[in-house]
Amino acid sequence: MNDSPRVACTACGQDWQTWYRVREDGRVFLLCPECDSVWLPEDDRHAPPTHHLGALFGPQPKFFNAWVLIEECTAPPVD
Ligand SMILES: [Zn+2]
Repeated sequence: MNDSPRVACTACGQDWQTWYRVREDGRVFLLCPECDSVWLPEDDRHAPPTHHLGALFGPQPKFFNAWVLIEECTAPPVD
């Protein structure tokens, strides 16, 4: 169980913001699995998302699938 309070996606409201990490470099971020909205750790997760999953990896081919590069992870420790 994750004891941090869950926050619904502020963009679509259809799913929970979930912690994911980039397999290659360990970057962590909050992702809405429903609409691919992204909040970085320093972002206000109660505000509208300022990032999108595809944009985390820079310019990519049309059918680039960012999901193969990330995995669900536990929340990072709070400072
Ligand atoms: Zn969403």
